[in-house]
Amino acid sequence: MTQGCIFCEILAGQKPGDILYENEQLFILWDLRQPRMGGHILVIPRQHIENLISLPDELDQMMMRYSKIASRALIKAVNCSGVNLMIANGQSAGQTVFHLHIHLLPRNRIIDIFSYYLNAFILHYKVPKNRQKALVQRIREAIIQEIQANGEN
Ligand SMILES: [Zn+2]
Repeated sequence: MTQGCIFCEILAGQKPGDILYENEQLFILWDLRQPRMGGHILVIPRQHIENLISLPDELDQMMMRYSKIASRALIKAVNCSGVNLMIANGQSAGQTVFHLHIHLLPRNRIIDIFSYYLNAFILHYKVPKNRQKALVQRIREAIIQEIQANGEN
């Protein structure tokens, strides 16, 4: 736990946040910056690791496996046909929270990525609370289903 890190503080219950899934090594969090369709989520190691460059090798597989599981869950729960994975490594690459997080962004069309930036960073769009709650629940359930389908826990 690193004080002043929003992800560590959410994980410790010191700041609010919708955790969709957690295990001993990682957790999956609803991002506050959302596209109109909703469903922008983050796969984050529990350990405060700065970015992918400093990720210990033994966590590589777990991070990628859960990014895959969560992508499948998004396709089921958000009604998207595609998912982008994005990681910012370092300030010059656009990293603003220095605790590794893999962005998963649902997509249906090429243009969705532009409308995401417009909605999230310029219009400061917020998914309505009720819709967010329903989406969080659907994604949670879809992640569990995917994990069970893969014989994991
Ligand atoms: Zn942290």
